[in-house]
Amino acid sequence: MDGIRVIEGGLGSKREKDSNQETQNEEQHELNLFDLFEQDVNMIQKQSCEAQAEEEAIMTPSTDVEQNDNDTQAEEIELPAYDRRWAWVEIDREAIRHNLLAIRKRIGPGIKIMAIVKADGYGHGAIESAHIALANGAEFLGVADVDEGVELRRANITAPILILTEPPQESIPVILRYNLIPTVTTMEYALALGEKADAAGRAAPYHLKIDTGMNRIGVHYSDAADFLRTISFHRGLDLQGVFTHFATADESDSYEFRLQLEHFNRSLDEIRYMGINPGLVHAANSAAAIRYKHAHFNMVRIGLAMYGMHPSEITRDLIDLRPAMSVRTRVTFVKSVPVGEGVSYSYTYRSPGSVLIATIPIGYGDGLPRALTNRMQVLVKGRLCPQVGNICMDMTMFEVDQRSSQLKPRLSVEVGDEVLVIGRAGDIELSLDSMAEALGTINYELACRFGLRLQRIFK
Ligand SMILES: *Cc1c(COP(=O)(O)O)cnc(C)c1O
Repeated sequence: MDGIRVIEGGLGSKREKDSNQETQNEEQHELNLFDLFEQDVNMIQKQSCEAQAEEEAIMTPSTDVEQNDNDTQAEEIELPAYDRRWAWVEIDREAIRHNLLAIRKRIGPGIKIMAIVKADGYGHGAIESAHIALANGAEFLGVADVDEGVELRRANITAPILILTEPPQESIPVILRYNLIPTVTTMEYALALGEKADAAGRAAPYHLKIDTGMNRIGVHYSDAADFLRTISFHRGLDLQGVFTHFATADESDSYEFRLQLEHFNRSLDEIRYMGINPGLVHAANSAAAIRYKHAHFNMVRIGLAMYGMHPSEITRDLIDLRPAMSVRTRVTFVKSVPVGEGVSYSYTYRSPGSVLIATIPIGYGDGLPRALTNRMQVLVKGRLCPQVGNICMDMTMFEVDQRSSQLKPRLSVEVGDEVLVIGRAGDIELSLDSMAEALGTINYELACRFGLRLQRIFK
């Protein structure tokens, strides 16, 4: 979204490798990569300054048209996001802060919190979310890949960052350069990491992922201690933590959860028995952190709950969370449609007469699931209105009943009126949870999708 996600060639890209392979030995090649990173960092700093300037300009809208001294570039006109397109995601900073404090209260003192900001902070903005989390009790950050870690570093975030999966070996120089902590799940990767770090005169911190039954990634719990013993000699490796992940922490039946926990405890015992200090031990995601005290160890990994969503119905009674994301838009067009006329692609809805059809500039390209066509409502001026006609990529229509009664005075809707798609207004809540339930998916997925195209405004 910010246009500075990928370091061109910086990941030891094939192009770079091919051009160097014949003329240089590996060591020189590595040096070149590091040189490249220096350049990257300069470029990055320049870009992030520009990005910052841009952001500031957005925060303080001005009517001045800035003259760009580069003749070849078109003039930029800065406008707040919601004036460029009448559809946006609003993030309530205070809600994220509230959620972190609620989590801290729930887990008690002395347990570290790793804030999970992968997938652009579940659509809430990774950088902003990380800042709020770090200012409110989180000490660690968790991301899904190298680029997500680099993005945080470029935003001058210095907290430890764990990459929750084992990244490609080719990215090891980037990991070392940006002080990211990789997860280790294979011997090949561990040795490659150790070798590269040692060559740079360092010991690379890493966390070992132990598979205790989810069967996704990780060294099997019965092999974990042996695995660590095999690499414990390595000068280039520094075991900073071990962790596992639960498959059923949000399910009502806890039998399989307990089995995983038992496997984890057994491998921890074996690791310690070998004289190896496992360092930071962590296992709990939001659901487990909220529900199971005995799964806290010395750190919990909090994603969903920090954004104010519940991992399942079970946690609702245990902790007070406030959704931080709302999705808002403005009416761009209103008309009355004669009875019998169809609306939108395929005419899946026909006007019953006595209705206005209002259009909003948001669609499935923005994360509004097309499968909700004719099955959802939006909120306008305190009134729920049914969405009608197929949801398009960038636009959606809803119906405004023009029949009035004593209970319901006629609702007048005009271009520019604000429409709530997700969020709360008074007693009415349009939640990601209910939207997800209607679709047979989870709130996690919908939050991520709303974060992909819409502009974000922090409040
Ligand atoms: C995403 C993720 C989490 C966070 O889970 P939530 O349910 O969002 O709290 C924790 N641990 C790992 C390994 C993850 O991938």
